[in-house]
Amino acid sequence: MSEPKTYPSAPVELPLRLGSEPEPVPGCAGCRELANVRDRARAGGDLTTVVDCNVLMARHPEGHP
Ligand SMILES: [Zn+2]
Repeated sequence: MSEPKTYPSAPVELPLRLGSEPEPVPGCAGCRELANVRDRARAGGDLTTVVDCNVLMARHPEGHP
């Protein structure tokens, strides 16, 4: 199982970069919850959860009116 097709310089699928985290949308309970979980995870050193929250929050705007 090899992947012959590589994408040399197209990091479009990963909007997450260190130092630029998605911001919770004001008034959105889902974003607020994600921000809370993210803060708590970061305080506890759970970087996996921090990244998960960032991914979810980055996708969340699609669900906003
Ligand atoms: Zn939201």
